[in-house]
Parts: sequence; structure tokens; C-alpha cells
Amino acid sequence: MEILYRYFPQLSVKQVELFAQLLPLYTEWNEKINVISRKDIDSLYEKHVVHSLSISKIIDFVPQTAVLDVGTGGGFPGIPLAIMFPEVEFHLVDSIGKKINVVNEVAHELKLNNVKAEHVRAEQIDRKYDFVVSRAVTKMDELYGWVHKKIKKDPINRLPNGIITLKGGDLDEELIKFKNTVIIYDLKDYFTEEFFETKKIVYLPMSVK
Ligand code: SAM
Repeated sequence: MEILYRYFPQLSVKQVELFAQLLPLYTEWNEKINVISRKDIDSLYEKHVVHSLSISKIIDFVPQTAVLDVGTGGGFPGIPLAIMFPEVEFHLVDSIGKKINVVNEVAHELKLNNVKAEHVRAEQIDRKYDFVVSRAVTKMDELYGWVHKKIKKDPINRLPNGIITLKGGDLDEELIKFKNTVIIYDLKDYFTEEFFETKKIVYLPMSVK
């Protein structure tokens, strides 16, 4: 938890209490359904919570923003972002139903009324959002194909609507098609832990401000 105070000193007492509940909740659920690699549960706050919240370093979503988390698994980055932005609407989807059950349990325990978790493939969704977020699901090309028609045209945030993904490693080839539009943020510029050394936020703006 110390890492959370260090990087996000603006969190309220209520938010800190909610984040504190994540470790016991995920420890319990992970024993039943593996949603976080077992060796990672000890570094839940660094590798999952802070990593998810890194998105808030590049965008401060305004209230009523609609965000789709594609392939949320056990709720990342959607659950930490929903705690960080209580007035933003989050739709968390995954193609595996038992993972969505875990997300629903966690959201229910934390009384997060801005989270809707649904067992559905991203391609099948018929709604529009301001932003799509995603971590460790698929390459940008495929994700773009799944969601580009689901991004609203008129932006309500400071940044244009679009896709925001958390990625690692060498992205040159993956992003070649998007090289004129994509914006890459190195997480090592924000966080000093080794884990963030090669991690990046890849933002593909799509609406026009
Ligand atoms: N985003 C989570 C995280 O970072 O912890 C989970 C990542 S996990 C490696 C990838 C997830 O994407 C899996 O839970 C899988 O079921 C889901 N997934 C893959 N293709 C999908 C699709 N077309 N629609 C929705 N979910 C999908």
C-alpha cells in the first residue's frame, strides 16, 4: 500500500480503504479461480493496482466518461480505475464467465456502483464509449478491429476519445500501421520500480477535438 500513497497522494481516505480491501479479496478469490498469477499476488499493488492506475497519469477522466475495459480478466485495469474515478462509468468485459464472476464479487464487496461487469466478447458489444482500455489482451491491430466503431465521436475529456492500452516490450512492429497517430508514454518516467522499466501506455486518439 505504501507504493499507492507515494504515487497517488491525492487519494481520499475512502479510496485508500477500498484499495486496502483488494489484497484480502483477491487472495481469497485467487485461491478458487486463478485470475492473477500466484507469484504476483504478493506484488498486487505494484504489478496490478499501480500499473492499472498509471492510466490516470495521462488522463484525468471527467465525470460521466464511459470506459470499456476489454479482456478485464479479474478486473484490471478496470477495478482500480473505477475506485480512482467514482463518477466515471466502467463496463468490464471478458469472454470467460468465471473471471467476470470474480469481478462482480469484488465490485459488490467494494460497493462500486460505477462498475458493470459482463461475460461477453468485445466484438459482440453494441454500445459506444469515450475510451477503451485494455491490458495484456491482444495486439493493437486486432483490438482496433474489435472496438473502433464503438468509440464516440465527440470528446468530453481534455484528450480525444480513443484506445488506451498497457503494453510492454518492443512495439515497433505491432504499431507500424498506427505510427502516425499513436502516442506512447514510458512508465519509467513516472515510476522508479524495475517492473515499469519496459512498460508503456499506448494511446490511440480517435475522435477529433
Ligand atoms: N486484463 C487482465 C489483466 O491484465 O490482468 C487480463 C489479461 S488476460 C492475459 C487476457 C484476457 O482477455 C483473458 O481473460 C481473456 O479471456 C480475455 N479476452 C481475450 N479475447 C477477448 C475478447 N475478444 N473479448 C473479451 N475478452 C477477451
